[in-house]
Amino acid sequence: MTFEELQLNDQLIESISYMGFEKATPIQEQAIPLIMEGSDMIACAQTGTGKTAAFILPVLHKLIEGESSGKISTVVICPTRELAIQIDQQIQGFTYFTSIESIAIYGGGDGEDWVEEKRAIQKGVDIIVATPGKFIAHLNMGYMDLSAVKYAILDEADRMLDIGFHDDIVKIFKHISDQRQTLMFSATMPPKIRQLASQILKDPKEVSIAISKPAEGVLQAAYLCYDTNKAAFIKHLIEDKPSCKSIIIFTSTKKEVSELVRTLRNKNYKVEGISSDLEQSEREEALRRFRSRETRVVVATDVLSRGIDIKDINLVINYSVPGDAEDYVHRIGRTARADTTGIAVTLINPDDQYKFLRIERLMEREVMKLPISETIGESPAWSPTSGGGKGKGKGGKKPFRKGGGKGRRHHRSGGGGHQQKNK
Ligand code: AMP
Repeated sequence: MTFEELQLNDQLIESISYMGFEKATPIQEQAIPLIMEGSDMIACAQTGTGKTAAFILPVLHKLIEGESSGKISTVVICPTRELAIQIDQQIQGFTYFTSIESIAIYGGGDGEDWVEEKRAIQKGVDIIVATPGKFIAHLNMGYMDLSAVKYAILDEADRMLDIGFHDDIVKIFKHISDQRQTLMFSATMPPKIRQLASQILKDPKEVSIAISKPAEGVLQAAYLCYDTNKAAFIKHLIEDKPSCKSIIIFTSTKKEVSELVRTLRNKNYKVEGISSDLEQSEREEALRRFRSRETRVVVATDVLSRGIDIKDINLVINYSVPGDAEDYVHRIGRTARADTTGIAVTLINPDDQYKFLRIERLMEREVMKLPISETIGESPAWSPTSGGGKGKGKGGKKPFRKGGGKGRRHHRSGGGGHQQKNK
């Protein structure tokens, strides 16, 4: 379906074509008509499906066609600063040919940011995209007029509840007029999300796109190895793939980020680390250098795994298996965005094998498992048990036997959608 067929306003159609979108994605096709009609909506969609445009385009359409009250009309609440900036950037692109103004409000800024945000709020900026904490900080100062808000959107609602923003969200919605249209987007639909939906949505229409499934364009592989060989193997992967111009390596801890950055820099790679240890401005600068390809490799914690849209990442490496299947899907969703292809490689030590098996079960897909190169070291065999390899010395698994084992099969077929969280 084209955006003309969705009957979006001409100014939007023009900016959409400047952004290079030719056809609506499935979530856009489903959600845009319902939102235009005025329904509240609960949508289950992963990042990378075009969900941001799915909620913002119909809202912008209505703002352009309606009369401006001169007050804040739209509030988008999302879990992280990076996501707030990214949503705001998309809004700025779509509103290029209009007079609609937006601002991203998130924590971590300085006094100047606060003054600028306050000025925009008092002036009645059309759209605010904000993280809950900073939004409430301004709300508590008493100068935020939410009486004319017509559209309230929660993005990545499940993530916000995981972080502990439930009470903040409820508080924010108490201040927004009941006449609003409310849209809630979430990658998963656990009961706590349904419960929140029943508190803030009215007779919502439901839209669902299969979740817990990576995009079809991601080629997934896993390498069986011991921790001691991981750094050397990553160096080998990076050297082996000169055509990969943008590489993200996800680690589980900030400490691993700094250690791996140090190791790779010793080998003269252009590498940067991104974790919550960096100041907000430093994170943005590092992201900018990565986007513009001044930096080839970024090592990051899950700060970067959700929502961040960097075009054309060719290779995502999981330095260790994430604890949560949803995080795995989000991490590898950094590659193969909207119709492109990419590679996602996960390093699995013996302790993590069972964790990875659970992820495969959730995805309903078996991932090809390979030994690391013999010149780097020995590979444990694939034999996941719920106890992992703990307490068995070097992992307690027999070395990998070439050519054998069920782990070498690679299934790319998918089943139905999953809504279960892997906890
Ligand atoms: P999202 O799921 O909102 O994070 O979007 C993922 C990426 O897809 C972003 O880079 C969008 O700019 C892009 N995108 C969204 N809608 C379309 C579309 N209809 N055609 C092509 N790319 C799109």
